[in-house]
Amino acid sequence: MSARVLVVDDVPANLKLLEARLNAEYFEVETASGGPDALRICEQKQCDIVLLDVMMPGMDGFEVARRLKANPATHHIPIVMITALDQPADRVRGLDAGADEFLTKPVNDVALIARVRSLVRLKMVVDELRMRAVTTSEIGVTDSAFDAANDTGLNARILVVDERKSSNERIADILRHQHTVEIEENPHEALFRAAEGDFDLLIVALDFDGFDGLRLVGQVRSLERTRHVPVLLLTDPGTDARILRGLDVGANDYVLRGADHNEMIARVRSQVRRKRYASRLRDNVQYSLELAITDPLTGLFNRRYMETHVETLVQRSASRGKPLSVLILDIDYFKSVNDSFGHDAGDDVLREFADRLKKSIRGIDLACRYGGEEFVVVMPDTDLGVAALVGERIRRRIAGEPFPIGQGDRAIEVTISVGIAARQGPQDSAAQILKRADEALYRAKRDGRNRVAADAA
Ligand code: GH3
Ligand code: MG
Ligand code: MG
Repeated sequence: MSARVLVVDDVPANLKLLEARLNAEYFEVETASGGPDALRICEQKQCDIVLLDVMMPGMDGFEVARRLKANPATHHIPIVMITALDQPADRVRGLDAGADEFLTKPVNDVALIARVRSLVRLKMVVDELRMRAVTTSEIGVTDSAFDAANDTGLNARILVVDERKSSNERIADILRHQHTVEIEENPHEALFRAAEGDFDLLIVALDFDGFDGLRLVGQVRSLERTRHVPVLLLTDPGTDARILRGLDVGANDYVLRGADHNEMIARVRSQVRRKRYASRLRDNVQYSLELAITDPLTGLFNRRYMETHVETLVQRSASRGKPLSVLILDIDYFKSVNDSFGHDAGDDVLREFADRLKKSIRGIDLACRYGGEEFVVVMPDTDLGVAALVGERIRRRIAGEPFPIGQGDRAIEVTISVGIAARQGPQDSAAQILKRADEALYRAKRDGRNRVAADAA
């Protein structure tokens, strides 16, 4: 994993030291000797993580962190603060300013590398989401990034998984003022509760009697419903190796059982903030993907989506020696529906048609709106004979019952014509199959409409 790390320190010797260590791990290193320099580099270059000295003349590390976090362009870059001080109050100030982690000088090599790696990995996921959100549509990405930057990280739902009563009660007491806290003492029940509970954060103890807390972390990461929920490890001092293992398995951060109240609160808030930020981006991507592939009127796939997938379906069926058929369906005299009853009535007919179509085909069939009142269904594992039966079933479903329009106070007769074609031989292409289905459709129209015609070839 290569990543660009920005190291910020006013003492040149410190810069050299960290640069050498990070270079040895194949990170690409940028250096800045002060706050303003650091801000400029972050704006201009793609930095994956910032290692930030706290005490610097002019602008100190807290201020740099605050500015990076307040700017939507740099808000998502993880920050590790490095300081000679190990005062709880400083840690809390740093975490509040937006730092993701705190390391004290002299910096422990293993902790430094593990922390940088884990934060970089996390950032890459967010980057991927940001990129997709930006390229699939223009909608509100920066707005939502900005909202997230201002999110308080309060009122979260938190599940504490820890069998030690004194410990879990202490944590609940600390966090209860700002969040809703639930406790689960049985680690075997925890995954189930996590999957059902829609939590913003899991706090998971590493040490259970006869159970490895890291197993739970692994399960949380592999289960679809919980994989995006942040996990904060809960442990005692002197368990560094286990903590590093936990970060490898997918935990987001750790906190010591005896940690200062404010540090616990700040760490929880920063995980909650980050989770909300990523989930906004995900919703955004989800929404824009849906917009990009579906037809808004009917909810069917759109033509572009069908065209990008039909060739794959055809090739797959060819390589497996399975049949594949295509139906093209076109509403008869649809123009006159619009002319007689208005464009809205025409839309009602299109929606109702799509509903009846969906009910007539299998889940693996790909149905799309191909044009105005023309639809295509691609049916894997289906030969021409079966496709003809399906086409006939759909035709009857349309012609057999009038279509309600307007408020449902009127209904009109609608019929369709259907052309079908099947894949022929290993060289046949999607474009050729579609063309033959279209020719069959043309014959169905010419022969009087309200009928199914098969490719004669
Ligand atoms: P044929 O039986 O030969 O298919 O005749 P037709 O009238 O159905 O075919 P034609 O292609 O002449 O007309 C299609 C009409 O579909 C014209 C167009 O205004 C209408 N149309 C296309 N998209 C929409 C839509 O989204 N909503 C509505 N209401 N009408 C649409
Ligand atoms: Mg038509
Ligand atoms: Mg038409």
